[in-house]
Amino acid sequence: MRMYDIIEKKKRNIELSKEEIDFFVNGYTNGSIPDYQISALLMAIYFNGMSDNELSFLTLSMANSGDTIDLSNVNGITVDKHSTGGVGDKTTLIVAPIVAALGCKVAKMSGRGLGFTGGTIDKLESIPGYNVNISANDFFKQVNEIGLSIVAQSGNLTPADKKLYTLRDVTATIDSIPLIASSVMSKKLAAGASCIVLDVKVGSGAFMKDIESAKLLAQKMVNIGYSANRKVLAVISNMNIPLGNAIGNSLEIKEAIDVLKGNGPKDLVDICVCLSSYMLMLSTNKDIEECKTLVNEVIKNGKAFDKFKQLIKYQNGNIDYINNPELFKTAIYQVPFYAEKSGYISNMNTELIGNCSSILGAGRAFKEDTIDFSAGIILKHKTGDYVKKGEVIAILHSSDEAKIQNGMKIFNQAVTFSEKEIEKQPIIFDVIQK
Ligand code: URA
Repeated sequence: MRMYDIIEKKKRNIELSKEEIDFFVNGYTNGSIPDYQISALLMAIYFNGMSDNELSFLTLSMANSGDTIDLSNVNGITVDKHSTGGVGDKTTLIVAPIVAALGCKVAKMSGRGLGFTGGTIDKLESIPGYNVNISANDFFKQVNEIGLSIVAQSGNLTPADKKLYTLRDVTATIDSIPLIASSVMSKKLAAGASCIVLDVKVGSGAFMKDIESAKLLAQKMVNIGYSANRKVLAVISNMNIPLGNAIGNSLEIKEAIDVLKGNGPKDLVDICVCLSSYMLMLSTNKDIEECKTLVNEVIKNGKAFDKFKQLIKYQNGNIDYINNPELFKTAIYQVPFYAEKSGYISNMNTELIGNCSSILGAGRAFKEDTIDFSAGIILKHKTGDYVKKGEVIAILHSSDEAKIQNGMKIFNQAVTFSEKEIEKQPIIFDVIQK
């Protein structure tokens, strides 16, 4: 088999066979096929798309390119969730303890933030002592004992995706539905859970900019899951506005604690209740309304918050910080951003706000950059709110004065005003099931 012929075939929009797909995935992973040939193939896929068969073969081949997690020694139904990435998205920290408090098993591998999006692992590491790298045996033991563990993704999970993602990033082939679907689902299949809820973000802070593309992506991922014998459902949610009011690592941990204690901003609470209810529905076959009632109950009676504390304690995190979030180190500078005129906030460019938080010190431009856990943004108003001239819209947190100056400039570009009232958008647009 020759890579040249595979590129030629895809260029002519002829369906690739399983053998051809395995050939290029394995060849690229082991280094025998060069970047330039895979780049050409990616661009041919970008323009010609992939059939459902090709997509399933590609995803399975990528899932099997490295380690796969065998969760058969976890007693009970395993459930996972995945967000396609957003700003202020701390839902994993909330939904994982909620569903674990209801008896689901959550053996969760999460990622770090890169660029304008945050990552669950960085957020957890803002809790002093929390260990994201426990051994496989301790991971399984913990999931069996308390129903929940959240660790950093293992080094050799889906190496094909790691290489392909890096190449896509520099060849303008990220925003391709088959390439995103195979990338996300290969990681989910390799991580082993039998039920998966996907949170597909749409809007200015997401890869998918319109609802129709997000629905198509969601449907493709649901189909891939069922063809690999997993139960999958996708929620299409709004990323035109940052999620919740806190952006930045320890600021988001504090907001997650608020929600687990029965408080927190409505958009964040609503999406967490929605995602947890569907996770419970997939793993128990209970009716969705009953699942919502159960989810609200474990928040109200404190069992979800207790489960979160158990998680932090098991992974060596200092529980004093969870009992008393005032202990988290705060940024030296906490500078308000004032409304320059009276009016309705007509738009908050979410990608720019994510970039602003990252520049304040909450994220990294390069993998090796260190994070300032206390940096970030607290939003006091969001899109659709009426503000008076001079009112505080947000507070920028950083321990570096120069970063505050840069952050202010970016935040200023991100927010626009209108004299006319703006219709508030829903947080959940749709739910895609099999
Ligand atoms: N998230 C992923 O894991 N992969 C993509 O291609 C896009 C978002």
